[in-house]
Amino acid sequence: MHIIGAGMAGCIAAILNPTAQILEGAPERPDNHKAVLRFRTREISNLTGIEFETIKVYKSIYYKGLHYSECNPMFANMYSAKVVGKISNRSIWNLDCVERFLAPSDFHKRLLERLESEGRVTYGEKITHISDTAIHTTEDIFERKGGIISTAPIGFMPKITGINFKESVDFGFKNILTIQGIVKDSNVHQTIYYPEVEFPIYRATLTGCKIIVEFKEGDWSEYKELYLIEVLKSFGLYEEQVEFEKDFHIQKFGKISPINEDLRKRYIFDLTDVLEIYSLGRFAIWKNILLDDVLDDLYTIQKLIQSNSYDRKKIRAK
Ligand SMILES: Cc1cc2nc3c(=O)[nH]c(=O)nc-3n(C[C@H](O)[C@H](O)[C@H](O)COP(=O)(O)OP(=O)(O)OC[C@H]3O[C@@H](n4cnc5c(N)ncnc54)[C@H](O)[C@@H]3O)c2cc1C
Repeated sequence: MHIIGAGMAGCIAAILNPTAQILEGAPERPDNHKAVLRFRTREISNLTGIEFETIKVYKSIYYKGLHYSECNPMFANMYSAKVVGKISNRSIWNLDCVERFLAPSDFHKRLLERLESEGRVTYGEKITHISDTAIHTTEDIFERKGGIISTAPIGFMPKITGINFKESVDFGFKNILTIQGIVKDSNVHQTIYYPEVEFPIYRATLTGCKIIVEFKEGDWSEYKELYLIEVLKSFGLYEEQVEFEKDFHIQKFGKISPINEDLRKRYIFDLTDVLEIYSLGRFAIWKNILLDDVLDDLYTIQKLIQSNSYDRKKIRAK
């Protein structure tokens, strides 16, 4: 089997499918996730053998200098419009203190190192075309070995596969900018949401001794320091306690805009039906899922692969 993409979804898929080969378009190890990585369960830790830390996360909303411990439609809608330009339900509604499992900051690198040592990742193989017999990349042509798991953004698939999807979809997204800082003597886990429209930061997370601040897309370099000071204030921190990195990281597809649910499913279905391509991960299924959900989807994909085409239709219909 081939897996398209060596992001975290592709790596997890490869660990569950020990003979699969990953084809990654980037010329070297991708480092796509510049943020905290929290899980709802330990399942992926158990699967990968990489220890996660159990943490308690406290959350709050900060608006015009005050904290709020409950969300309301005004905050929720302002926040959603700010991050995706549309009104939809976002994580700001969930402010309960929750238990989470924190992956180490080098989680992705460790997965890649393991797969590389097994000779299962090839870089610089950007897929240009997939037929029912072969995978064409900018460099090579690979003979297909059964189904393909794709973690590439679904918006590229019409071009790569030549499938004529009946309706075209605007897979809208916004990049985000993140900036990280080191906080002296901290071991807490807190997230603050900032729904205020004029303030370019929408969320910040203090995780142990690291603070990660997320800005909406834009050029914020001029007043960056002032914005960061406001964030520190909301955490009750002083400038002397934190050392921020100088540069922003651009997180491509940081926020994806939801699309019509029937059309979304139709795209995923057609890819499997016509070319036995199984879509996996946030950008391949165009839904704001977490990596915990990726594991559930992988088990479904395994069932689909093992079934014949009649059974496949039944599983997918569920
Ligand atoms: C600020 C922030 C915080 C987050 N926090 C969490 C969290 O706490 N927990 C959690 O579970 N998730 C979290 N997420 C989501 C998580 O980052 C994503 O779900 C995850 O990184 C997506 O991984 P992926 O492998 O699906 O996609 P990607 O990382 O994008 O991997 C896809 C790969 O496919 C490759 N590719 C694309 N096109 C081609 C092609 N044509 N040919 C070959 N290769 C190709 C790309 O180069 C890329 O490496 C967060 C996201 C953000 C932005």
